[in-house]
Amino acid sequence: MTFVLATQNAHKLFEVQKILAELIGEEVEVKMPADFGYTEDVEEDGLTFSENALIKADAIYKALKMPVIADDSGLCVDALLGAPGIYSARYGGEHGNDAKNNAKLLFELRDKEDRTARFVSAIAFVSDTHRFTVEGEVKGEILHEARGQGGFGYDPLFYYAPKGKTLAELSAEEKNEVSHRYNGLCRLVEKLKEENLL
Ligand code: IMP
Repeated sequence: MTFVLATQNAHKLFEVQKILAELIGEEVEVKMPADFGYTEDVEEDGLTFSENALIKADAIYKALKMPVIADDSGLCVDALLGAPGIYSARYGGEHGNDAKNNAKLLFELRDKEDRTARFVSAIAFVSDTHRFTVEGEVKGEILHEARGQGGFGYDPLFYYAPKGKTLAELSAEEKNEVSHRYNGLCRLVEKLKEENLL
């Protein structure tokens, strides 16, 4: 079975490929749209993670007519009323600049006692016969300074109490066992099985 993952991010492809191989089996193949010549940027103008995931999945399904998985994810901080949320990638003012995003997060939380937060991953699936979304999350707390070299994005600030570490201090395998994307992909696989698509 081949899925197209709506991403241009090789790091994310690697993460998702590993998780799906574990949940479904090594026979599952995850490709990027670019592998089929699709390199357009889809404008994500939805107001929720799920809307944005569907916008990406729909656009790529329309172009390639293959089963598409699209993930839209981000960090929601309780004391910031859910921010940065769908704006996680450009919170610091420059798309994909992790250092600026993390600096802005620390600044916004400078006088907040409640540091609880969660990563959310909405996953859309679109094929000839199906169109739905599922969600996964992981709960943690935002530290006062960065710890660890692994992962990406807000991982060095995101403390995961059950492991006593930030997500950036976990190995790729350990992060994959607890992450929002892992939890979302578990739900996706459950749903694909329920629908006899696997
Ligand atoms: P996207 O949905 O992959 O574009 O993710 C949006 C943004 O959310 C990223 O640029 C990161 O800042 C943040 N983010 C999403 N997933 C993670 C994660 O697993 N660790 C750290 N940051 C993440």
